[in-house]
Amino acid sequence: MAEKKVTHQIPDVDSVPPAVTPPEHTADTTFATKPKLDDAKSRKREIPEGLWTKCPDCTELLYDKELENNLEVCMHCGYHFSISAQERIDSLLDPGCFKEMDAGLTSVDILKFTGVAKYTDKLAGYKKKTGLADAVVTGIGQIDGHSVGIGAMDFRFLGGSMGSVVGEKLTRMIEASTKGGHPVIIVSASGGARMYEGMFSLMQMAKTCAALAYHAEKRLAYISVLTHPTTAGVMASYASVGDLILAEPGAMIGFAGPRVIKDTTQAELPPGFQTAEFLIDRGLIDAIIPRKEMRDQLLNYLAFLSPKAKAA
Ligand SMILES: [Zn+2]
Repeated sequence: MAEKKVTHQIPDVDSVPPAVTPPEHTADTTFATKPKLDDAKSRKREIPEGLWTKCPDCTELLYDKELENNLEVCMHCGYHFSISAQERIDSLLDPGCFKEMDAGLTSVDILKFTGVAKYTDKLAGYKKKTGLADAVVTGIGQIDGHSVGIGAMDFRFLGGSMGSVVGEKLTRMIEASTKGGHPVIIVSASGGARMYEGMFSLMQMAKTCAALAYHAEKRLAYISVLTHPTTAGVMASYASVGDLILAEPGAMIGFAGPRVIKDTTQAELPPGFQTAEFLIDRGLIDAIIPRKEMRDQLLNYLAFLSPKAKAA
């Protein structure tokens, strides 16, 4: 409805003659432009903030409700916006089946880290902002009846960084899946290890990979889904050891940032460097799958990799 009103007003605004030639009656025309201000005001009111989102790729204005129904993918150019861990889980699992694990697990500021801000203050702020206890949501659920262990990272929480809680929650979910005989799916979105936890955060790389190795020993599948962005310590550990590694279109995937690599290698980086599209040609990932097709494709892979899970 708001859209309709806006289009009605545009002709009014346009019908005001452009002031190319200096007006003859200066006093009159100065006041005659006043209604234009009102128009601008009402127009602003009709596009309230939070109803529309501008696509950063094609700059098209997108109606939020429509964007939400399209799983936060631009209807015009297919740009994939970031989504929360909960939205991710909802987009993949059967409705109402998700059993969350370790929801209350929170970080302890073991190093008493203080930088620009105290780590404890940062944690409290992000908890309030996101409603999450940390940067990953884990649990067991079903995709069309296939039982899976799932972990979804949330980039909004401290850049999806992996501290001891992220590592521990993923490890517990992987171990529960190994025990239960389910395949594991981890959807990553992360800036890497959490610097506030120093070594404790780096140790999570080995821990998660060890749990996945035991999982593989039982001949159980692990599918890693990389979303924008998946970088650094996360990409260098569990995100890159999937039996299948999938990515969303346009996702930035890499270890160090392009500037660091450029400075280190002293070489020009090729165009498209560190995108999913660049990496699929070089064999790092197995498939690029648009968000709207992800659930169906995961089902295909699960039927192939883990046919028994359906019966569970
Ligand atoms: Zn777009």
